[in-house]
Amino acid sequence: MDRLAVVVPCYNEEEVLITSSKALRNILDNMISKGKIAQDSFILFVNDGSKDRTWELIKEEHENYPNQVFGCKLATNVGHQFALTAGLLSVQEMCDMVISIDADLQDDVASMEEMVDQYHKGCDIVYGVRKARTTDSFFKRVTAQSFYKLLEFMGVKTVYNHADFRLMSKRAVREFAKYKEYNLYLRGIVPLLGYKTACVYYDRRERMAGESKYPLKKMLALAFEGVSSFSIKPISMVMGLGIGIMFCSVLAAIYALISYVTGHVEPGWTSLILSVWFLGGIQLFAIGLIGKYIGKIYIEVKHRPRYNIDEMLIGELKD
Ligand code: UDP
Ligand code: MG
Repeated sequence: MDRLAVVVPCYNEEEVLITSSKALRNILDNMISKGKIAQDSFILFVNDGSKDRTWELIKEEHENYPNQVFGCKLATNVGHQFALTAGLLSVQEMCDMVISIDADLQDDVASMEEMVDQYHKGCDIVYGVRKARTTDSFFKRVTAQSFYKLLEFMGVKTVYNHADFRLMSKRAVREFAKYKEYNLYLRGIVPLLGYKTACVYYDRRERMAGESKYPLKKMLALAFEGVSSFSIKPISMVMGLGIGIMFCSVLAAIYALISYVTGHVEPGWTSLILSVWFLGGIQLFAIGLIGKYIGKIYIEVKHRPRYNIDEMLIGELKD
């Protein structure tokens, strides 16, 4: 039977930890009794440098359920994306599939069973996708939706309304481990892995207790990370703007010349206005061009894997 690991990043989650742990253990027990996952499936809480009693509570849970609740304590706060990565990479050789979920259980734990079913049907990646955003404030809804739209516009492949609640098979995590980049945006990388995927839909609840660890500042940082880690389109936009302005300078030239000929201008105005437009255009174009090269260097230094083999059919080789 396949072993499931549940990875839960936690930052200052003392208010919800025990409840979350209990809910997750119940779900695991339920799936074990139905024969869907191995008996020794487990939960790993990753403590992301919490300043409250989160780690003490994780230790307590581990003592009470030594074979079901595990803990991993990061030395400092590294943020949600890195904490999650630490969890995924720590369990990759200890399980056959892993589900990541937030500690506040806003995502529906009951959907985990559906994810496991999809895994058994041969999916390597199963995305948890929220149906509606009724529990979010108007502000969060609008900002989040514009964020997805922006990513789409910038050519970044993402799954709409999917946060980091997902199942990954062992081989998907192994493949993910090859992405060594520091500027990490998980939701952008997972679709690049390219294995067979599925989505399960659920309603997102409100946070059980405590407050969001994603204030506006962190949300904006994540959005910028998402765009800048996957897209060099902003550079192309600068270049496009440069070309556009150079084109405008031709129009401005015609206008200036006509004004000059019809004699309505101050001396020196024509040459001045032409240089301003033309030089502005050339400068932006040149910056864009340099940016293109920097964009290429940026892509190179990421050292991302160039392909991922899904299946190979090979006959027997004789020597
Ligand atoms: N989190 C983390 N490190 C951080 C911030 C958040 O590990 O620096 C965890 C947090 O404990 C939670 C998850 O990331 O399990 C998502 O955070 P939160 O629920 O506050 O975000 P929201 O649902 O409001 O977007
Ligand atoms: Mg939350």
